[in-house]
Amino acid sequence: MTGRVENTVGRVDLIGGGPGPIDLLTLRAWRLLQRADVVVMDRLGPTDIRDHVGPDVEVIDVGKHPGHHPVPQEAINDLLVARAQDGKRVVRLKGGDPFVFGRGGEEVAACLAAGIPVDVVPGISSAIAVPQAAGIPVTHRGVAGAVHIVNGPSEVTDATLAALRDDSVTTVILMGVGALPRIVSDALHAGVPADRPVAIVERGHHRDQRTTRSTLATVVVDAGRAGVRNPAVIVVGDVARAGLLQPEHQLAGDTVR
Ligand code: SAH
Repeated sequence: MTGRVENTVGRVDLIGGGPGPIDLLTLRAWRLLQRADVVVMDRLGPTDIRDHVGPDVEVIDVGKHPGHHPVPQEAINDLLVARAQDGKRVVRLKGGDPFVFGRGGEEVAACLAAGIPVDVVPGISSAIAVPQAAGIPVTHRGVAGAVHIVNGPSEVTDATLAALRDDSVTTVILMGVGALPRIVSDALHAGVPADRPVAIVERGHHRDQRTTRSTLATVVVDAGRAGVRNPAVIVVGDVARAGLLQPEHQLAGDTVR
């Protein structure tokens, strides 16, 4: 016996960070954050993590900042595994929900392949919560009975065109600002009505949140004129119509903050 303590393996928890404000984390995510040795964070979701963890916690930002080279996914996977192999409790903080376009599945698979204990805590996805922040219920009874969630950069598939054409379906587009002209052009060519309402919600749940309302016919011009930028969620469908809930819809806001 040397008396040396064996380096036991740590663990990785992918936690959903929600759309931004720290109080949109689940209690489970918060508890894991308070017990973390290492936090690996993204550009979206809560970015003020330093204020919410102890001074000894290592906070690593692998976020994709425009104009900077993002940390490749492989390197993120390796980082999670390496820190856990060092015996650390690693929290991988992801924007929104880890399994909605967040490549969370790949990170879980990498941990499993390396024999690292791993778990996932769901988060509030921007796909639902960002429209909500603009007063848009993505499945408003009698208006929309289904939601089709797509990522903008992918090609516009037949399933997406069918969703856009169906006036009882809400189409929610993430990462869609750059791809908007192509999506709109494909939709119009496929016979989607030009008066289909569109809402673009930028920086949902942040103080500088902004909503641009338009229709398929005019959204490219309107978005250009407004200078719409990522992060934004684009909602296509009748639920995106202004005044759906009441004229000049205005939610009361959170009195707890
Ligand atoms: N896993 C995340 C999505 C990651 S993809 C989730 O469940 O929310 C990144 C895209 O999410 C962005 O390009 C944008 O379309 C959207 N997004 C995330 N947070 C947002 C926010 N606060 N406001 C607007 N869009 C947001």
